[in-house]
Amino acid sequence: MTARRVSRIGIVGAGQLGRMLALAGYPLGLRCCFLDRSADSPGAQVAPSLIGELEDGALLEELAARSDVLTFDWENISGAALAPLARLTTIRPPAAALTVSQDRLHEKALFKRLRIPVAAHAAVDTRGQLLRAVQRLGLPGVLKTRRMGYDGKGQFTLADRAAIDAAWSALGGQALIYEKFQAFSRELSMVGARSPGGETVFYPLSDNRHRDGILRHSLAPYADARLERSARRHLKRVLEALDYVGVLAIEFFVVGRRLVANEMAPRVHNSGHWTIEGCVTSQFENHLRAICGLPLGSTRALGHAAMINFIGEMPDRARLLGVEGLAYHDYGKQPRAGRKLGHCTIVRKRAADRNRAFSDTLEMMGRTD
Ligand code: AMP
Repeated sequence: MTARRVSRIGIVGAGQLGRMLALAGYPLGLRCCFLDRSADSPGAQVAPSLIGELEDGALLEELAARSDVLTFDWENISGAALAPLARLTTIRPPAAALTVSQDRLHEKALFKRLRIPVAAHAAVDTRGQLLRAVQRLGLPGVLKTRRMGYDGKGQFTLADRAAIDAAWSALGGQALIYEKFQAFSRELSMVGARSPGGETVFYPLSDNRHRDGILRHSLAPYADARLERSARRHLKRVLEALDYVGVLAIEFFVVGRRLVANEMAPRVHNSGHWTIEGCVTSQFENHLRAICGLPLGSTRALGHAAMINFIGEMPDRARLLGVEGLAYHDYGKQPRAGRKLGHCTIVRKRAADRNRAFSDTLEMMGRTD
């Protein structure tokens, strides 16, 4: 008897992550179907999509009924919306992983329980609690919404006491968290995958540069054997604690010589886009392999990669395609300030050649990052 053949994937949300999942699925004979608000979403341009609200119970049930396994481009779906779907299909990653990552406070509690270092922090629901948190943890610090923050949205850096009122008027009235500011030297991330049988694989570390909370570019692999071991250990603990299936990413600050976990994403991650051309098996393919119960693919790097996000506007395509070996990804989105519209990746055998091609490409785009 052969195992049940899983080939229909339902994806909640049809942004660029979903689109790249669908594209990775075709060669494996995996068919994706989305649910998204827009009929012209990045995902809907490459695979069928149901159209409607992401938490519409009837549409979610229809998607689940059509799928052998249900997964996510958008991880903020509520536990209440997910619960009825469990009897219709397999949900991967597990609902518990989504709910814990939806709340920065719960996420940090999980990290702490697993002995993964995090920034000192305090929950803040009132102005009084903010004052006490600043008193106890000191300045500078970062005030963030506990839920729904992404790409730097929903956060406010407090340099001094004078910023307290502005921070409170910007964010007060919702569940918040105050974190001690981390004077980091770098931001690294690790992406890994776990299969239903508990097999795990880990990609090399990625060195990520953000501005205004948005990822500008990643250089990978970041070669530091000690930090890599440490990141793997942390990621493995989270994967196992959650009995996780699929790809999971953790973003870290490097503070002194150690890693401090900032946040995790229960899905494929922007800092892993370089794996499409830069590794034997991409994060997208490995997510699909994991959730379908297929053997995980090699995460070995094929060279030194640079991934540059296109933010707010698309670059001159013809010029960029003139760069040898550059892989160009257009997500098919309408330009808007601060919006991730696409990315490109360059892979070279030697780090020095990668660095040169990376800075030439940035210059071509008129960027300094
Ligand atoms: P986040 O939404 O938590 O990923 O934060 C977005 C970016 O803001 C991070 O990638 C950092 O560059 C910066 N940031 C967030 N939290 C802190 C912190 N506690 N200390 C210093 N920088 C931070």
